[in-house]
Amino acid sequence: MKLEKMPFWAGRQMSVTKIGMLAFHAALLVVANGVSVAAATEGRASGSPQDEVIKVGSAELAVVLGAHPSPAEKRVAVLLAERINERTGISPAESCAKAAIRLVIGTVASNDKIKAFAATRKDIASLGADGYCIAADVRKPELYVVGQSDSGVVAGVGRLMRELRYKRGKLELPALEITEAPQMPNRGMYLWARKHFFGKPDQVDRYIEEFALWGGNALAFWFEMGMFNSFDDPEAKQWLAMYRRFYATARRMGMKTGLLMAVNDAYKSSPEKLRISPIIGCPNHYMCPSKPGSVEQMVAWQEQVFKALPAIDIFNLFPADPGGCSCSDCTPWPTRGYWRIAKPLAERIHEISPKTEIWVDTWHLNHKTFGGKDWKNLVANLAKQRPEWFAGFEVAVAPNHKYAAMSAEDRKYYNEAQAPLMVFPDISMWGNHQGMLVNKEYWKSLQAELNDYSPELMKGGWPYSERWNTDIASVTFLSWFWNSKKTSETVLDEYASFYFGPGAETGRKLLDLLDDGCKDPQRKRKIGEALAKLEGSVPDWVKRDWRWGEIVKSCRFFANRH
Ligand SMILES: [Zn+2]
Repeated sequence: MKLEKMPFWAGRQMSVTKIGMLAFHAALLVVANGVSVAAATEGRASGSPQDEVIKVGSAELAVVLGAHPSPAEKRVAVLLAERINERTGISPAESCAKAAIRLVIGTVASNDKIKAFAATRKDIASLGADGYCIAADVRKPELYVVGQSDSGVVAGVGRLMRELRYKRGKLELPALEITEAPQMPNRGMYLWARKHFFGKPDQVDRYIEEFALWGGNALAFWFEMGMFNSFDDPEAKQWLAMYRRFYATARRMGMKTGLLMAVNDAYKSSPEKLRISPIIGCPNHYMCPSKPGSVEQMVAWQEQVFKALPAIDIFNLFPADPGGCSCSDCTPWPTRGYWRIAKPLAERIHEISPKTEIWVDTWHLNHKTFGGKDWKNLVANLAKQRPEWFAGFEVAVAPNHKYAAMSAEDRKYYNEAQAPLMVFPDISMWGNHQGMLVNKEYWKSLQAELNDYSPELMKGGWPYSERWNTDIASVTFLSWFWNSKKTSETVLDEYASFYFGPGAETGRKLLDLLDDGCKDPQRKRKIGEALAKLEGSVPDWVKRDWRWGEIVKSCRFFANRH
């Protein structure tokens, strides 16, 4: 295995030093409070630090947590043990007494060994929020994953998982020295709440955890009242229970929770006389904020939903799609109808939960149907008044979406308003796209838009994901929240390496062939060949991952196409 300085580590906040490599045969143990969770066999490390690869006999690896591990630390240790076990077959040992190598993970607060190690390192003391440090020196029996926070510990262990090389009965760890911290504080994922996700809740739990391992720290859902007759509708109760479950999964990984609410949403049974004048993309049971009594009713409904969920960190006021009202009192929508409900709603949420960040989303507002240029008045007013509850603007990144696309001039206007920004990127509105979505040219345009905003204002965002097949796009965006200059090529390299294992090179080529922008005239034949090669060579764990299924689906789609 080659371990070289790679371009995506080259930023100010990161450093990597090549030292060598450790190879373990067998052996895994997770220890918390002296109680082992999982483990293996025995052995001794040998070799010199100058070696490119340190050959190790049958060594034992123990994962050591502190005396007071957080739920995130306990969970990530188990996930690491499971991943190693699944990919190498290394079985648990009975005690940690024989561990030749100890992987110490945690924060300065949770783990005394980490505290002692951090005391020797200036870079750890100055680690940015949610950052991590991985120190694996082959001359020492203790390896460290230090996180600045729970999210940092999880991201660090995730990075370690991607650096490990898994073989049957053998695990290789390159000696590493990595310090990295994310550029943006809100590194989210918005799962559009539909059957593609909710039909498989166990898979969603694992998906959320995997996202955290890639460095994600926020999960958002939209609660769509219009799907239900009322708050007491049993289906609404089930939906909320599902959200609570997924939020708990996210919280356990050290993530934040986000809730999107369309501001003038209403239940299907809403009073006829309070309903909207029709506007594109909005069901008729939505309510008009200009009719007497409707704002009070909508705020009360939203409050009910908000309180039925565990503490929400980030609340998003969504203006349209669906939403809006075309009556003369609500027009133009941004500063009249929208503001008429958004303001009291924000104030009420802030009153209930002062710590909740409240972001004003402006999706669709720059389209003439939703007020033409009136959005500029909304932005200017908020930027000037800065109500106590106001966290910033959430802006669309959707160059192909005719209602949500933003111009360079629009972006300049936001930059000049000097309010914090988050992005709401369209990564998945691709009609009936078959299988895993890869579209590097499009991603480049999204990245260019992201980087068109002032870096000091940009705080992250929520890529919009409709189905499992947006996984690579989500990971790509997430990588930009860590380092907005990282290339899609680099992300695809990492992705292929982690999910194709020894088949990474062929898998990487296959992903390029599946790219929507691929112009290779031999594309169909090459896709067939690459898939056949992988089919016959990758270990079973590659094929057990649901991602493999999505990729095979993509290949079949091309095979059947003329
Ligand atoms: Zn109206």
